[in-house]
Amino acid sequence: MTKKITIAIDGYAACGKSTLAKALAQALNYTFIDSGAMYRAVAFYCLEKQFVDNQGVIQKKQLEKFLSEIEIEMTPDQRIFLNKQDITDAIRTPRVANVVSQVATIKSVRSKLVELQHAMGKNGGIVMDGRDIGTVVFPDAELKIFVTASTEVRTARRLAELNATGAHVAANEVTKNLLERDYLDSTRLESPLKQAANAIVLDTTYLSREEQLQWALERVRLLITN
Ligand code: C5P
Repeated sequence: MTKKITIAIDGYAACGKSTLAKALAQALNYTFIDSGAMYRAVAFYCLEKQFVDNQGVIQKKQLEKFLSEIEIEMTPDQRIFLNKQDITDAIRTPRVANVVSQVATIKSVRSKLVELQHAMGKNGGIVMDGRDIGTVVFPDAELKIFVTASTEVRTARRLAELNATGAHVAANEVTKNLLERDYLDSTRLESPLKQAANAIVLDTTYLSREEQLQWALERVRLLITN
């Protein structure tokens, strides 16, 4: 497997996109980029700076004023830094999940992050997951996968992740957040979440991580040997 391609993985919240993208990148010796972590970093910045009113609404004007001060770095070992501060674990909290999709509706935020994503992926050999990777960020990606899973399975997976970090959140709160984010992500004006015309759907509801990986590796093999 010598030719290095670009792989775009999109889909709804907690369908297993990042888990698959990471395993695929590892198997192919490609770079994995979790674009959602970047939106979470900006959401974390807003919370730290208190650019959120008491109704939980992001103060867009304030954020836009300080956008140029936001510096995001991602390391090969999957750590994310915001202005040199390691925020890898801090961006996985419900507090961040509750506001991130609002931040992701802001055009100037998306432009800034897409520029960063282009720079990271310019040499190919990349697996990037998100919401608009196959449609907007890398419309020419050789392989586009659109991941789905049932709401029950998505809730159970996200709950397990949260429990593993010691956070205790009720299942119905997790479901509510996933569905709210899906709604905002797929109805926003700027780069809404949608399946690219040439994306292949992968329903992960009944598939193990290994089965998902083998399915994706087969798609890559077919592409690079043809
Ligand atoms: O992938 P993850 O669930 O961590 O993404 C968090 C949020 O970031 C999404 O719900 C969405 O609002 C936003 N996002 C986006 N475009 C991307 C990746 C994430 O709008 N490419």
